[in-house]
Amino acid sequence: QSVRVNDFVSTIYDKARHVFLAQGHQLELYCRGDWTVEVDPRRFEQIILNLLDNALKYSAEHSVTKINVEKQNDDILISIKDEGQGIPSEDLPYIFTRLYRVDKSRSRLTGGFGLGLSIVKELVEAHNGTISVESQLGTGTCFTIRLKESFDEDSFTH
Ligand code: ATP
Ligand code: MG
Repeated sequence: QSVRVNDFVSTIYDKARHVFLAQGHQLELYCRGDWTVEVDPRRFEQIILNLLDNALKYSAEHSVTKINVEKQNDDILISIKDEGQGIPSEDLPYIFTRLYRVDKSRSRLTGGFGLGLSIVKELVEAHNGTISVESQLGTGTCFTIRLKESFDEDSFTH
């Protein structure tokens, strides 16, 4: 299904913002352009919500999470960047693995099964997209989803 990425991400942002604010965090959205991507809206929302859930869960209060949508060549990049605790570089290769959690002892504190990112990766790949991560311990983490821009004519008819 052709989806206008701005409208789509804005809608998720509007919902998620309240959850962030209620927990003393901030969520910001930067989207400069109007592009179309081919996604299953329900599944794609699940991807974004999982990444936002992590951003919230692994950040201290008052931190700012930014959703950024941009175009690079023919790709649409959607990134979710937090100011959280970061992920140690030795753990980075494993975080998309099922049931993998960086700090087992913190599992009681934060909850979760270590399933979120494995599902995210599967869903992104089912959309013919890729997901990458950059992280610095103590500074924050940025997940970037890359999708091909869609030029389906249907998306331009209202
Ligand atoms: P679930 O998503 O099933 O509730 P989870 O959040 O622990 O549990 P994943 O979302 O798969 O599982 O993440 C795997 C691990 O990667 C997490 O346990 C955490 O250690 C680390 N991680 C994921 N996202 C972040 C982030 N934004 N900042 C810091 N660490 C993260
Ligand atoms: Mg998670």
